[in-house]
Amino acid sequence: MLTERVWSGNSLRNFHYLVACPETGEALAVDPLEWRMCLDAARRRGWEITQILNTHEHTDHTGGNAGLKAATRATVAAHAGAASRIGGVDRGLNKGDIIKVGRTVELECLDTPGHTMTHVCLLSHTETPALFCGDTLFNAGAGNCYNGGQPEALYETFVSQLARLPDRTQVYPGHEYLARNLEFTLDREPGNEDAPRLLAEARHHDPAKAVVTTLAEEKLINTFFRLQNPTVIARLREAFPDIGARPDAKTVFVKLRELRNRW
Ligand SMILES: [Zn+2]
Ligand SMILES: [Zn+2]
Repeated sequence: MLTERVWSGNSLRNFHYLVACPETGEALAVDPLEWRMCLDAARRRGWEITQILNTHEHTDHTGGNAGLKAATRATVAAHAGAASRIGGVDRGLNKGDIIKVGRTVELECLDTPGHTMTHVCLLSHTETPALFCGDTLFNAGAGNCYNGGQPEALYETFVSQLARLPDRTQVYPGHEYLARNLEFTLDREPGNEDAPRLLAEARHHDPAKAVVTTLAEEKLINTFFRLQNPTVIARLREAFPDIGARPDAKTVFVKLRELRNRW
């Protein structure tokens, strides 16, 4: 499997991805909002985009479908429940479906509600798994839930699906928000030992060359995976005294998400 991350350079800080079969050169474009950039990247690599995948229905992920489809005749796949809202979807996806790219690439669809209730993540069946996670999981952060989502559902997705994937899984989110998210991590957990080093890098990096984190790293730097951390809980109680001394993980997650909304 060959993967190319395409940095949009737009104000929304979108990342697009091309996933290609090394034998046939067929490629899947994930959330190709700036579709001309994706087309150019594919041409440079000698790849042919034959499929488009939307992780969810928001227009900053689907807005390139029509242009790219017209230019390539690629088919469009998205969560079956989002298809009617997106329009022009050729294949509605359900949990466990496999997307094949060329002869060698297989990507499993995970049904991952929370950011919206019809969101898929793609997981590669490769030696080093890759997770294309849209607006569910960001580097050092979690997606918001105020455009059709539910924080309780996002919590379930985090604990029952994402946290259980292999630690070496590489994380490929739909936007580049690393520095801002690390600042939130340090606001919630000032003594976090791993966030400062990455933050120093992230403040100066070219987003086109941003680090690709693994789930192991996310568990160290992402507050939304650190729900039992004593400092995270103590700091959260300053904002929400009602949660008590031993809040459950779901309460911590939901309150963190609420704080992040206005942070
Ligand atoms: Zn979104
Ligand atoms: Zn988005």
